[in-house]
Amino acid sequence: MASKMTTLEDLYIDTLKDLYSAEKQLVKALPKMAKNAQSPDLQKALQEHLRQTEGQVERIERIFQELEGSPRGKKCMGMEGLIEEGNELMQEDAEPDVLDAGLIAAAQKVEHYEIAGYGTARAWAQRLGYDKAARLLQETLEEESMANEKLTKIAESHVNMEAQ
Ligand code: FE
Ligand code: ZN
Ligand code: FE
Repeated sequence: MASKMTTLEDLYIDTLKDLYSAEKQLVKALPKMAKNAQSPDLQKALQEHLRQTEGQVERIERIFQELEGSPRGKKCMGMEGLIEEGNELMQEDAEPDVLDAGLIAAAQKVEHYEIAGYGTARAWAQRLGYDKAARLLQETLEEESMANEKLTKIAESHVNMEAQ
């Protein structure tokens, strides 16, 4: 890879850039997922998470203000793949309830991926003494967890059952 990675700080910054790219990709992808969602509660949940995601982008920008660097310059390949799988699903000729069940699954993969990323980044921020960054990362981590739980509730409340 292009840049040398010597310290945990280097890895931490690289991870933040990766998360930044992931969130930016998601800001672009969520409107299409919301538009394709058939049930109003799933639509609403995805739109709400779009607004949260925009705030998460800003949190990472705030973290970089203190680091005196730019969060740009990296592409999160993991998120690209997850979004691509969601796009594949939306190209299928799926029944509405089946499509929603698939969209929930795709969105939950995204949330779990982000939860893993933010959990790691927060732990490294703490270890490196970046307390403010650790708090900001914790806030996002909680939003991702809540988004994931909300998707589980929507799935359990009706979507998966109607798809049977
Ligand atoms: Fe996010
Ligand atoms: Zn990534
Ligand atoms: Fe998320």
